[in-house]
Amino acid sequence: MKYSYSQIKTFGKCQYKWHLNYKEGLVPPPSDVMSFGKFGHKMIENVLYGRDILHDIVVGEGEFDMTEMQEIQDMLDDAQTVVELFLKTLPLSDWETVEVDGEPLIEKKLEMDLGRGTQYIGYIDWVARHKSSGQVWLWDFKFRGSFLPDWTEELDLQKPTYMKHLYDLGVEPIGTISCQIKNKAPKVPTLTKKGGLSKAKITTTWETYYQAIIDNGLDPADYEDMREKLAGNTWFQLSRSFRQPEEIDRTWNEVFLRTVDKIETQWSSDTPPPRSIDFMSCNMCQFRDICIEDLKGRDTEDLKALFNRREKQHASKDTIQ
Ligand code: SF4
Repeated sequence: MKYSYSQIKTFGKCQYKWHLNYKEGLVPPPSDVMSFGKFGHKMIENVLYGRDILHDIVVGEGEFDMTEMQEIQDMLDDAQTVVELFLKTLPLSDWETVEVDGEPLIEKKLEMDLGRGTQYIGYIDWVARHKSSGQVWLWDFKFRGSFLPDWTEELDLQKPTYMKHLYDLGVEPIGTISCQIKNKAPKVPTLTKKGGLSKAKITTTWETYYQAIIDNGLDPADYEDMREKLAGNTWFQLSRSFRQPEEIDRTWNEVFLRTVDKIETQWSSDTPPPRSIDFMSCNMCQFRDICIEDLKGRDTEDLKALFNRREKQHASKDTIQ
């Protein structure tokens, strides 16, 4: 059996959601946010490897084989804009990639044997050394509509488990960095009926706004107040957490492995697990309709038919993402 972090996280949020998603094998269609993140990750990987930012990204082929081609192309353009904006703002040249046996730790595949015939699998985004301080950090890139506060980095479970793997490889990061990047490109301001630019506070950067002033043949002096108005709009945020080996060990043993044990038990049970019903859990749940209809005692087969199905994984020992 192979466990991904997604499965662990889903189980932690709502066991009944895990049951539908993994045990019944219902797979929701990928959201725009997920597709945007896929593009963004691939672009950052390309840049870290010193390749062209669009290397291996061909819309309509391989992992980017999606329907709605124009929408996907627009999303690709937006992803390129935000990744380039991020790279312009944060000097990655201050960092160097850590290697293990000559292999750069960029999108590094992780496979950890958990014993009992189980494995933990995933991908580590980046492990890099800050050139001037010599500190090694584990990086994770996330593309989001709005940023989580810095303190939430302390509550991240995925990166401590990846740090455990790095310790096993002889790499000892001093902590973890969450690099949150907006999943929308800065908006180009619209022209008003009078032929000027709207001064409404839109989600854009001063650079984008300034470019629109120039493109429309307007006088930058008339829009100087917008520089300050837009100054608070940021397109990325770094949140750090220093982590000691004791914290990593405790998180691994007391949170991660115990959750895996619980999932193992649930896999072999014929009784569906309990639901975590509340607004925060259920608001964004893709299985909400099925869950509610089932509670009302109604037939849910039509609703389930709207989802793709995973293979029967537990018995076949396939990877479950
Ligand atoms: S709707 Fe709520 S209780 Fe039901 S599966 Fe989703 S998260 Fe769990």
